[in-house]
Amino acid sequence: SRLSERLSKTRSTFTYQLDTLFLGKREIDNELLDDLEEILITADLGVATTQELLEHARRKVKRKELTDPAALKDTLKEKIKAFILDAVANDELRMPDKGPFVIMVIGVNGVGKTTTIGKIAHKFQQSGQSVMLVAADTFRAAAVSQLQIWGERNNVPVVAHQEGADPSSVVFDALGTAVSQNIDVVLVDTAGRLHTQANLMEELKKIKRVMGKKLAGSPHEILLVIDATTGQNGISQARLFDDAVTITGMALTKLDGTSKGGIVANICREIKVPIRFIGIGEQMDDLRDFNADEFTEALFQ
Ligand code: GDP
Repeated sequence: SRLSERLSKTRSTFTYQLDTLFLGKREIDNELLDDLEEILITADLGVATTQELLEHARRKVKRKELTDPAALKDTLKEKIKAFILDAVANDELRMPDKGPFVIMVIGVNGVGKTTTIGKIAHKFQQSGQSVMLVAADTFRAAAVSQLQIWGERNNVPVVAHQEGADPSSVVFDALGTAVSQNIDVVLVDTAGRLHTQANLMEELKKIKRVMGKKLAGSPHEILLVIDATTGQNGISQARLFDDAVTITGMALTKLDGTSKGGIVANICREIKVPIRFIGIGEQMDDLRDFNADEFTEALFQ
């Protein structure tokens, strides 16, 4: 599939290393498990997630439920899938019955926030929804013009004020316009960096508060964008943002550019918030709805 092609960087190392490790081995001994530990850590599964995977395997070996090294690969696959499913369980992206579906998009600069917004806009448009983009990162002129470029590409309106304007007032105006124009989906871009981290978090809290006041129930989704190539850093970012505004979903970008696709399972296990989308390239249609089964299969193919 195209997904597994795009994950080829991960597969070419992770799957190759696993297959090489198991090749010709007759039993699962400590040496094999030590080598396995290294491979898992290298794939960005993280120390805690790796330990849990190994414990799970060791228990199965001890109980003689697992003897064949080749079967160990399936055991890993199932456990990794379980971590992901656990985070995704019963929590689908749900649009409100009435009024615009408001998605507040957050994340540090450079992770692919604007690109992801452009791709999501495209996706909703393809399914026949009207979309509006909102430039609530008023601190960087470049951020506003980047968003405007995606707006033009998709032919969707972009609400922006002048540089330095209060982001909350941009959002306030935009939601009013979205309601009066019967817009289906509103995607709000936010700052990824301010003078201090505390300032940024306060700003995001304020934007969220103002949204709720202007349109009850909104934002319906607080989507954190994480760069998959940043490993443990991405997990730290998720914790920080979650503490501040309680994220409801994640988009994981640049999975095409990393050999460390294990980060997906690691993030799910650590953060327990569903991954909604994955970015697998720079183009408009390089976004996929995240599906645990499809992803795990592609990872182990
Ligand atoms: P922002 O600062 O978070 O808004 O980041 P941008 O949207 O400007 O993206 C930063 C860079 O990452 C750009 O060069 C994008 O083309 C690139 N990018 C975003 N998503 C992906 C992805 O899924 N795969 C790849 N390979 N590049 C991406």
